[in-house]
Amino acid sequence: MKQRIAIVIHGAVQGVGFRPYVYRLATDLGLPGWVANTPAGVLIEADGEKPLLDLFLLRLQRDVPPRASIHSLEFSILDPGDFAEFTIRESDQSGPVTAPVLPDIATCPDCLREIRDPGNRRYRYPFTNCTNCGPRFSIITSLPYDRPNTTMRAFAMCPACRKEYGDPGDRRFHAQPNACPVCGPHCEAWDQAGRLLASHEEALRTAERALREGAIVALKGLGGFQLLADAGNRDAVERLRRVKRREEKPFALMFPSLDAVESACECSDLERRLLRSPESPIVLLKRKQNPRTPAIDPGVAPGNPTLGIMLPYTPLHHLLLGDLDRPVVATSGNVTDEPICTDERESLTRLHGMADLFLVHDRPIHRHVDDSVVRVLLGREQVLRRARGYAPLPIRLGRELPDLLAVGPHLKNTVAVSRGTSIVVSQHIGDLETVQSHHAFTQASQSLQDLYRTKPVAVVSDLHPDYLSTRHARTLGLPVISVQHHVAHVASCMGENGLEPPVLGVSWDGTGYGTDGTIWGSEFILLKHGEARRFGALMPFPLPGGDAAVKEPRRSAAGLLFAMMGSDGFARLDLPPLRAFRMHELGLLSTMLRQRVNTPLCTSAGRLFDAVASLLGIRQICAFEGQAAMELEFTAQSVLPGRPYPFQWEQAGAAQAPNAPVFADWRPMVSGILEDLAQGTATGEIASRFHATLAAIITAAAQRAGIPRVVLTGGCFQNRLLTEATVARLLQEGFQPSWHQRIPPNDGGVALGQIAAVSYLNLLR
Ligand code: ZN
Ligand code: ZN
Ligand code: FE
Repeated sequence: MKQRIAIVIHGAVQGVGFRPYVYRLATDLGLPGWVANTPAGVLIEADGEKPLLDLFLLRLQRDVPPRASIHSLEFSILDPGDFAEFTIRESDQSGPVTAPVLPDIATCPDCLREIRDPGNRRYRYPFTNCTNCGPRFSIITSLPYDRPNTTMRAFAMCPACRKEYGDPGDRRFHAQPNACPVCGPHCEAWDQAGRLLASHEEALRTAERALREGAIVALKGLGGFQLLADAGNRDAVERLRRVKRREEKPFALMFPSLDAVESACECSDLERRLLRSPESPIVLLKRKQNPRTPAIDPGVAPGNPTLGIMLPYTPLHHLLLGDLDRPVVATSGNVTDEPICTDERESLTRLHGMADLFLVHDRPIHRHVDDSVVRVLLGREQVLRRARGYAPLPIRLGRELPDLLAVGPHLKNTVAVSRGTSIVVSQHIGDLETVQSHHAFTQASQSLQDLYRTKPVAVVSDLHPDYLSTRHARTLGLPVISVQHHVAHVASCMGENGLEPPVLGVSWDGTGYGTDGTIWGSEFILLKHGEARRFGALMPFPLPGGDAAVKEPRRSAAGLLFAMMGSDGFARLDLPPLRAFRMHELGLLSTMLRQRVNTPLCTSAGRLFDAVASLLGIRQICAFEGQAAMELEFTAQSVLPGRPYPFQWEQAGAAQAPNAPVFADWRPMVSGILEDLAQGTATGEIASRFHATLAAIITAAAQRAGIPRVVLTGGCFQNRLLTEATVARLLQEGFQPSWHQRIPPNDGGVALGQIAAVSYLNLLR
């Protein structure tokens, strides 16, 4: 099946024969399409079969012309463009410069060679960089991007560095953060009280020794602090969990080399490319069944068949990991739920009691930028957390937009601004629950407007009246446009895939505020020109305890059972969720359910996952958001695709309005699950059949809606099995499914969707 690949490249790719190079490569492979040089970067589109497009992508990066260098490459797989031949399009220099600021770029091979060369003046220097690599977004204070407008302004270049900086033939010509051991930043090792233990080379050695001995080291990295610990040391890993107050959520790892990664995990070509890319994200990889070395303590990612792994991406990381020659846990330097810490003085208080040693430096970080997280899904890259290496590169919407500011949702917050036909999404900010995160949120939204010089004519927020982001939006003195959470998810997925209405949006997540004031989370949204309508959802069920149910899947299960059989029926059952409550708790619960006290109705797919995980005895109480659903997915993964359970459709109310939503009645499915449980069917098989049922429900909804284009969005589509099963089934039935690639399916994508929705729905009048 033919597809189109759409690539955006930033870097030293102008005036170095890059377009002819792309042309030769594409015509060699027989791919029709085009390449153009624009203010938004070098754009390439090509049609072909997927394996050929993969080859094109690999060779495109492998064989770049000598003086060209790719600083960032993002691509999406889209519908074919029906091109006749490959052409070099005239440069179009009109339109605003949509990438005035580049993301931070991982250390390039040339710089790496120099720090490993004892004869080089930058031998073992942790802060070297050149025009092809180094810090950008994290150090820029204002535009234009010149040294005085970066946090490097405090360092005066020595004569040798100045010469490189001024020489057009040098790799460091106008490299703004250019530095060397004589004139640039240096590192120091501090104890918990901030006392100097060692500096320069000796600081690195001190940190390395400490890690070997099982210490936790707070490292001031590129976009903020990381907490490091030897990944093979059980005590260190356990202690890190305690101090971070992070019980079971998987930790990310940094490996010393690609070889080490490949001995621990399965790695496809695309995954290898991602690990070594200029973006250098955390890549979620499948663990090998019987890994050889290196040892990874089970506490790093308990019960998880995948590991989140990155390679060193600054000279400092390269030196430290190279000396250590073993993988380390590298988790963000913060207390769980707070934004990442960026300042070394502040770190002494904010990370107090968490680290044994602080490895810091004197190059200020102007902007916090977390490590990005990606994975490969259905043969394509999917960004799950968009930050370092990706932010603040724009997403082209292909529609002319007014200047808007979107303040995003409450959890996994990002903000966004529009400019021309593009939308720029901020780096990951996090959950807006603490003073620090509120501060990070206001800063990020202001600095995005400053950098892109936008003057918003309106601000877009969630429909939820009490979200901190919504309240902030109302203080800005601009018209506020509200966009319903699940509509924003749908518009987000449409936007990054360049889709036009009509589509059927399948917007499945944990929680969103519905237009009827109830909790939504399994919405089918019919998005047509100028209109978004709730076509349907899963049948609502009560959630005893409201928000408390997020942490306790057993509550969702109780709500589900109550909805099916009332309080008399469910209290008599002998099932894992009910056994997980004490007698008097169960009494209280059924009173709450009967009298509808603190028991909101929801259509949350996330809570349905929780409920089923609870019924199967997989998990009653979560240590982190989404844990039960993840474990349910892992349980199902080992089993071949299951047969769907039965379900039926029910239209709301007896007297039907013509556009009343239809609800997928899951009760026949839950009855089937209970029967299987009673017969002792393996939980893996039940879990697999549950996933298959959801895919069947989505496909049936698409058939009822009769719209070919189906858009899969929302946090539930981080579930690999659900996404793969749904896409397969939709394709089988002749639909055209789309899913997220460059923008997270979770709430990190909502800000983009808020702006896109204004355009699709014509909300600015
Ligand atoms: Zn470099
Ligand atoms: Zn120098
Ligand atoms: Fe959501």
